Amino acid sequence: MTTVFAEVADPRSLPRPLSRSLGIPIFDTVAGYSAALDAVRRNGRTVGVVPTMGALHAGHASLIRQAAEECDVVAVSIFVNPTQFGDPSDLANYPRTLETDLATVAAAGGQMVFAPSVGEMYPDLQGGAQATVSVPYLGARWEGASRPGHFDGVATVVVKLLEIAGPCRAYFGEKDFQQLAVVRRVVKDRSLPTEVVGCETVRDDAGLALSSRNVRLSSAERQAALVLSRALRTGAALMAQGENDPVAVERAMAELVATEPSVALDYAVVVHADDLEPATTCATERPLRLLTAATVGPVRLIDNLDPRPHRHADAGRREMASAAGTMS
Ligand code: AMP
Repeated sequence: MTTVFAEVADPRSLPRPLSRSLGIPIFDTVAGYSAALDAVRRNGRTVGVVPTMGALHAGHASLIRQAAEECDVVAVSIFVNPTQFGDPSDLANYPRTLETDLATVAAAGGQMVFAPSVGEMYPDLQGGAQATVSVPYLGARWEGASRPGHFDGVATVVVKLLEIAGPCRAYFGEKDFQQLAVVRRVVKDRSLPTEVVGCETVRDDAGLALSSRNVRLSSAERQAALVLSRALRTGAALMAQGENDPVAVERAMAELVATEPSVALDYAVVVHADDLEPATTCATERPLRLLTAATVGPVRLIDNLDPRPHRHADAGRREMASAAGTMS
């Protein structure tokens, strides 16, 4: 015991990172990153992880800041996971901005970066894994219907990242609401020693949910994309006025999106927030969520909104996590 504590108390005994930038150690090997987080925990400190694909913006920064408030050491992973991309051109065009990402991590209070290569994450195959994690039910609808295999890719890499990280809190954005539900579900099903924390969506001043893909929108497309958040607010307002029929709420959202000819709507729906099943009535005590997705120019955008935030304000995000754990 004494040896372990003496060893960890000596910073020179910590695993050596690939390099440092702005004082932040950057690990590119699974072994180095995993050993570094083990050392943190042996030192009696708590670990928060923020899995990302890089091209960090204020949405990612808010996750890192929240993690830094709640955990002793925050590690940010930056890995553009090929197995969750169905469209090769989306993968090829995904922005990669490691240098500025490191500045964002440092400014938001992150203390460590894990930036592995594809070969490090999937050593034996070109960009894939044989032992995959499948979420056939929760991952099949909404985003899953338009992006077959997407959530299996997400679940596989998230389980991998969380297993490498070990016991920790893991921060995910509500922006990717279905992804958050999938992550909660796989963490529960795989009995991972992870506490999943969902964080609110960060928007720009006009209401557009921040996304790494927004940089590929022209200014006209960015303007048109605002119709998505407007549609969500319209749906929520209708419900607040007493509309209890999800079909009417969905129709109103779709009609508003249709006023922007450059926005091709995929779905605008009212679902139960825990299992993402379509709601049959809005007159329910179960938390509901409005979900939407559309293609704007070259980019697929998603957004969502809690239509009754006041009603569930005291439920807390972690309670939502345990409710999600009861999904069938
Ligand atoms: P990504 O790099 O797009 O895979 O996102 C990494 C994490 O940041 C995910 O948990 C996302 O849900 C979260 N995230 C992305 N955009 C936002 C946003 N606008 N607000 C809050 N979280 C976000």
